[in-house]
Amino acid sequence: MQSNNSTINRNGYILGIESTAHTFSIGLADSTGYPLDSVSVAVRPLKGGIHPREAADHHAEKAAGVLQELLETNNLGPTNFEAVSYSQGPGLGPCLRIGASVARTISQKWGISLIGVNHCVAHIEVGRKTCGCDDPVLLYVSGGNTQIIAKMDGKYRVLGETLDIGIGNMLDKFAREQGIPFPGGPKIESLAKEWVENNPDAKLGDFALPYAVQGMDLAFSGVLNAACNLIKKGAPLGAVCWSIQEHTFSACVEVAERALAHTSKKELLLGGGVACNSRLRDMCDIMASERSAKSFVPERKFCVDNGSMIAVLGKLHLDCNDTTELSKSSVLQYLRTDQTPILWS
Ligand code: AMP
Ligand code: MG
Repeated sequence: MQSNNSTINRNGYILGIESTAHTFSIGLADSTGYPLDSVSVAVRPLKGGIHPREAADHHAEKAAGVLQELLETNNLGPTNFEAVSYSQGPGLGPCLRIGASVARTISQKWGISLIGVNHCVAHIEVGRKTCGCDDPVLLYVSGGNTQIIAKMDGKYRVLGETLDIGIGNMLDKFAREQGIPFPGGPKIESLAKEWVENNPDAKLGDFALPYAVQGMDLAFSGVLNAACNLIKKGAPLGAVCWSIQEHTFSACVEVAERALAHTSKKELLLGGGVACNSRLRDMCDIMASERSAKSFVPERKFCVDNGSMIAVLGKLHLDCNDTTELSKSSVLQYLRTDQTPILWS
């Protein structure tokens, strides 16, 4: 696994381990904290949602192979690394514990620093690093999380969030009800696109769903129920996929716009797996340009959960000498975005 190539940069790589939910990923950041390659595997349940224990078993089984592949394809070995970081929370306890155990082992065996990081903050920092934005409002839309976040008084504050399920979770559950396997989001996107292309005069009112905004917060379980009922009443699947996207994405973009107005910030950053969706990306662009702000969207590989973003945030902590003692490295299943002090600029 270790390379003896003396021409490679021996200094400063960071290894990042992601294992909050369905994805197990190990990635790299270079000595400037820029994200590089990552190797990822994900559980794809044939039936039902993610079972935390089964996902954890999957991660434990795959961890060694993922690490080996990453090191071999990048011609790197233990001596190239300065630190190993891992998602300390929030996430599914059993899954988090696998990532933490792998990170502790690597830290001890390789003699490098250990850094537990906040998964949600990693989505922001990989976006800032790769898109070049400075002080954005983040619209974080993933499987388990939906939050509108902005930095204030040294913390990333949650200005609004889902009161029930994450938007990605809602898309996946709706898809599952229709026999579409996990992850449902990409298929819903393609079905919706096809429907509007074939039905350019379709009216949203014919496939109305609850509007998910409640003040600065959002809610998606009512949309899920109503969408399943529309299907039961005979509405075409493509039409319902289109309606789900239009209703829920508009709701997210509305709250994001209000956050921009409240904070007077001029940058909007998208993050999380649902940020792969082109319709959502377009809506954010339109909203931002209408209020003379700028919308930033990371490459899709940095929107979904990935190890490189954990390495990016690990590097920021490392540069502030903020490493994690072994005795304080337990996972934090319910860690909140605003519990992590932002020590860097
Ligand atoms: P994450 O939890 O950040 O890894 O993101 C996974 C979630 O992103 C799942 O719920 C997917 O269904 C969703 N997702 C991935 N690609 C898309 C897409 N193109 N449109 C909508 N949702 C997506
Ligand atoms: Mg995520």
